[in-house]
Amino acid sequence: MKVLSGKAAFKGVAIGKIREFGEKKVEVNRTSVSDVEAEIARFEAARDTAASQLGVLYEKAVAEVGEENAAIFEVHQMMLEDEDYLDGIKGMIRDEQLNAEYAVSVTGQNFSEIFAAMDDDYMKERAADVKDISARVVRILAGVEEGGAAMEEPSILVAEDLAPSETLQLDRSKVLAFVTRKGSTNSHTAILARTMNIPALVMVSEAEHVDGLMGIVDGKEGKLIVEPDEETLKDYRDKLEAQKKEQELLNSLKGKPSVTKDGRKINLYANIGGVEDVEAVLANDAEGIGLFRSEFLYLQSNDYPSEEQQFEAYKAVAEKMGGKRVIIRTLDIGADKQIDYFELDKEENPALGYRAVRICLNKREVFKTQLRALCRASAYGRIAIMVPMIISVWEVQTVKEILEKIKEELREEGREVGEIEFGIMIETPASVIIADELAKEVDFFSIGTNDLTQYTLAIDRQNAKLDMFYNAHHPAILRMIKMVVDAAHKEGIWAGICGELGADTTLTEEFVNMGVDELSVSPGMVLPVRNKVVNM
Ligand code: PEP
Ligand code: MG
Repeated sequence: MKVLSGKAAFKGVAIGKIREFGEKKVEVNRTSVSDVEAEIARFEAARDTAASQLGVLYEKAVAEVGEENAAIFEVHQMMLEDEDYLDGIKGMIRDEQLNAEYAVSVTGQNFSEIFAAMDDDYMKERAADVKDISARVVRILAGVEEGGAAMEEPSILVAEDLAPSETLQLDRSKVLAFVTRKGSTNSHTAILARTMNIPALVMVSEAEHVDGLMGIVDGKEGKLIVEPDEETLKDYRDKLEAQKKEQELLNSLKGKPSVTKDGRKINLYANIGGVEDVEAVLANDAEGIGLFRSEFLYLQSNDYPSEEQQFEAYKAVAEKMGGKRVIIRTLDIGADKQIDYFELDKEENPALGYRAVRICLNKREVFKTQLRALCRASAYGRIAIMVPMIISVWEVQTVKEILEKIKEELREEGREVGEIEFGIMIETPASVIIADELAKEVDFFSIGTNDLTQYTLAIDRQNAKLDMFYNAHHPAILRMIKMVVDAAHKEGIWAGICGELGADTTLTEEFVNMGVDELSVSPGMVLPVRNKVVNM
C-alpha cells in the first residue's frame, strides 16, 4: 500500500480501479503473416468494432452537444467505409503478407499525408481524422483499452493535467474521481470536477505507474491510496457508506425553501458548463442557474458555434428549467481557457490580457452571434444575460447598446424576444470600487470570487506554487463583497456570489448577514448550503 499526497479540489471518497488518462500509444511492428485471409478477417472485425464504438460516441455527443457538433463521429464512421482506404489496407495485407496493425497504420499515414496536401480546407482537416480512426482500429487490433474518454468501467482517472476541453469530453458516468499530478485547486478543471460532483485531487506529483491498480481517493484529506490493504479498504468503505447516509439526509431538504429561521430568503442557484449539467441542477433542487459558463460550448467545438447551435443549447436549458431564472454568462475565454480557432496570440500575462468581454468587444460578429442566440432563446424561458470581467461603465453601456440593437433587429425579423434581465460579474477590484456607478446600469451583480481573489491578492489562480498564499477568506475579499452588496442595494438591485467561495459553508452565515441575495454553487453543493441556511 502506498499513500500519495496532494491537494483536495473536491470532497468525497472514491474507491476503484485507477486508469491513466490519455490515449495509449500502441507500438506497431511490421511482421509477416502466413494466413492472409484470416488477417483480413481480423481487420474487418476490428473495423466493425470501431464503427460501433463511433456509433455510441455519436449518440452520446448528440445528447450532450447537439447534432452539428456530433457530426465528426459520423465523418469517422464514413471514413471506415471508404473503398480506397479499405482497399489500401487489404491490399497491403494480401499482396505483402503483412500484419493488419502495420497495414492500417501505414495506410492511415499515407491517406493523412494526401489529405494534408490538398488545397481544400475541409479536406485538409480530414488528415487528422483519418489518423484518428486508424489509431482507433490499431488499438482494437492490439487489444489495448482506450484511456479516459472510453473507459469501460467506472474508474479513478489519473492524468498529468487536464485541460477544460478534455474534462468536458469525458464520459461522466465512468469517472469515479479525478487525480492530476499538476493542476491547481482554482483551475477550471477543478471547478468542472465540482460541477460534476466528483471527488478530485490535484498536485499528486507521485501518482506515476499506477494504471490498472486499485485505488482510494480521499477528497477530504487530499490523499490517493494505491493498493490499499484490507483494513484501509474497510475503513474507506465505511466512509463511503457514511457519505451516502449524509446525502440521504440532505435529500430530505429537497423541495424546501432556502430560508433562515428568522425568515431571510436566499436564492440558491447552481453553476453549469453545459446542457448536460441541468439534470444535476434539477436533481439537487437548485432554484435557478446562477452561472452558465457559455464558453464551454465554444471549448467543445472545433469551430465557432453557429447562432443555431447556441440557440438550441440556451433554449434547451431555459426549457428544462421551466421558468426558473437562468443566468447565462457571455463568452469568457482567454487566460486558461484557450481555443485554437480564435487564434489568439501568446501573451506574457494571459490573466491580465485579451479575454472575456475584451474579446467580445473586438470580435463583434462573434459576440453578436451569441447575443442573437441568447435573445432568441429568451422566448422559451427566463433568461438573464451576464457579462464577465467588467472594469468600466463604458464597457457596460457599449454591451447594452449592442444588445438593444440586436433585440430590435430580431423583432424586425418577426422573432419573439422575451424579458431579459441584464447583469455583470464583479470580479475585478475596479468594478468593486465603482460598483455604485455600475449599479445604475444593470439589474444585478454576480460576484466572481475566483477572479476577484486572483486580481485583488495578485495571485495567479493557475499557479499551484501559490496555493499556500491564496487565502479565499482574506479580509480584503470579504470587505469587497460587503461593499458590492451595499452598492447594489442602494440602487435597488440584487447581488449574488457565483465564484467558488459561495459554496464555502463556513461563510454562509456571514454572507447572509451581509445581505447577499443569491448564492450560485456547483449542483452538488446546493443542498449542503441549504442545510446551513435553514439551520441559522
Ligand atoms: C469567478 O471568477 O469567480 C467566476 C465565477 O468565473 P470563472 O471561474 O469562470 O472565471
Ligand atoms: Mg471569472
